[in-house]
Amino acid sequence: MKLIDGKTISEEIKKEIASEVASLIDKGYRAPHMAAILVGHDGASETYIASKERNCRAVGMTSSLYRYEENISEKELLEVISFLNQDEEVDGFIIQLPLPKHINVDRVIAAVSPDKDIDGFHPVNMGRLALGEDAFVPATPCGIMELLKRAGIETAGKKCVVLGRSNIVGTPMALLMSRNNPHANATVTICHSKTKNLKEEALQADILVAALGKPGFVTADMVKEGAVVVDVGIHRIEDSGKPSGYRIVGDVDYDKVAPKCAAITPVPGGVGPMTIAALLMNTMKAYRKRVKIQ
Ligand code: NAP
Repeated sequence: MKLIDGKTISEEIKKEIASEVASLIDKGYRAPHMAAILVGHDGASETYIASKERNCRAVGMTSSLYRYEENISEKELLEVISFLNQDEEVDGFIIQLPLPKHINVDRVIAAVSPDKDIDGFHPVNMGRLALGEDAFVPATPCGIMELLKRAGIETAGKKCVVLGRSNIVGTPMALLMSRNNPHANATVTICHSKTKNLKEEALQADILVAALGKPGFVTADMVKEGAVVVDVGIHRIEDSGKPSGYRIVGDVDYDKVAPKCAAITPVPGGVGPMTIAALLMNTMKAYRKRVKIQ
C-alpha cells in the first residue's frame, strides 16, 4: 500500500510558488496579493484564515484580512466585495464560509468578480468547469487532482466513484475526473444520500473519493482490493489518550481500509494540505491573468 503524502507534495508546490514569486519580485513585479473576508468569530474559520494568511506569507505573497462582526448587513458585505473587485492590488479574494444566516450566500458569491474568484465558487467558474473551459476550480478538488497527478496515480479509463455531491467538493471533483485530459479521463459515478446500493457502487471503484462528512463511513467491505482511496473528510474526534484530547479522522475507516488499497491519502496529511496549496495556485493564476509578465 502506497501512502499518498499530501503534506510533502503540498510543500513541493509551495516551494515552486515561492521560487516563482521571488523571481517575479527580482524582476520588479509586485507580489501576488490574496484578500480574505471573515465575518464573525467562528473558531474553525479563524483557524483556516490564519493558516491561509500564514501560507501566503510563506511563499512571498501579501495578504489582507477584512474582518466584520456577525451583524454586518448583506448590503455592507456586497459593498466590501465591490471594493475588492475594483482594487487593482488585489489579485483574488475569498469569503470564508459559513456566513451568518441573514446573509444570502448565493448572492454574495455571485457578486465576486469571476476573475478574482480564487475559491472557484462563482456560477461562471462552475459553468466554465462544466464546459471544460479554463476556470478557477474549488481548492479541494483542484488540490486532489494535483495530488493524484504528482503521486503518479493513473486516472485515464479508470472507474472513479465520488461519494458526495456538494458544490465545493463532490460535484467539481466528478467534473474534473471526467474531463478530457490525460490526468483525468475517468469514468465517473456520483453517489449521495439518495443513492441506492451505495456499497455496490463503491465496490466498483478503481478510485474512490470519500467526501460525505461522515467520520469512518467508508468501511473495508465497501472498497475493492487494489483501489486508490482519497479521503476528503476532516473530523475532530474526542480521544482521551491524546494530549490534545482529540484526534483528526476522515470519512474512511483508515486502519481497516488501508491494507486493501493500492494507495490511500491519510487524514491528516493528505487532502487537507493540498487544499491550501491549491488556493495559492489559484492566486498565482489570478495574478498571471492581471499582471502582464514580459
Ligand atoms: P457536504 O456539503 O455536507 O456534502 C456532503 C455530501 O455527502 C452530500 O452530497 C450528501 O448527500 C452526501 N452524504 C452525506 N451523508 C451521506 C450518506 N450517508 N450516504 C450517501 N451520501 C451522503 O460536505 P462537503 O462540504 O462536501 O465536505 C465533505 C467532507 O469533506 C467534510 O468532512 C468536510 O469537512 C471535508 N472537507 C475537507 C476539506 C479539506 O481541505 N480536506 C475541504 C472541504 C471539505 P446529499 O447531497 O444527498 O445531501
